[in-house]
Amino acid sequence: MVDWSVGAVSLIRIQNKVNVRIGVLEFVVKQLDVDGAVVRVGGQTYQRTDEPWEYAASRVEQVTAARRAEQQSMVDYLHTTGCRMRFIANLLDDPAADDCGICDNCTGTSDARSLPVELVAEAEAFLRKRPIPLVTKKMYVDPERGSRRKIPDHERVEDGRVLSIWGDGGWGQLVRDGKLRDGRFDERLVQALAELVEEWAPDPAPE
Ligand SMILES: [Zn+2]
Repeated sequence: MVDWSVGAVSLIRIQNKVNVRIGVLEFVVKQLDVDGAVVRVGGQTYQRTDEPWEYAASRVEQVTAARRAEQQSMVDYLHTTGCRMRFIANLLDDPAADDCGICDNCTGTSDARSLPVELVAEAEAFLRKRPIPLVTKKMYVDPERGSRRKIPDHERVEDGRVLSIWGDGGWGQLVRDGKLRDGRFDERLVQALAELVEEWAPDPAPE
């Protein structure tokens, strides 16, 4: 628990007590500010007010239910065999919408397996070969001042490269398999990493 009896408390001090990212914490504290439970007394420092405050469980449940319904609509959109444009128009309260005539369902091209095998292979090869930069942090949070500061250039970790972004269409599936199944990564990933380093040719080279 955060001890508010000490008066004003900085976000950094709160973050030391709770296991959430600073962005989430900022969002929560801003909401508490709007609710009148805390008041900002300068910079990233807040103080508890005398306003009673309770967690709005029923409101949170309502909002969560609305988001879940939206998620379900996205899944339904994916699986619909009818016109996709009409599906969206209906969701947006236009029950009179006509079929668009150009979406994959209207034109009968919705079966992904009907794509030429070479084209799919070409797309996969493209996604696997594209260089993905790993951009490292430029800022850090100064625990004493509670503010963001620039990391001096000579202390910054250099930018790097990554092979895959979690779940992407290139190596994503193999990475996921390796991580979730038996913890052993496919040999093809090892080979691809070696090629990545070779093409990137960082100086100095990794040993
Ligand atoms: Zn259509």
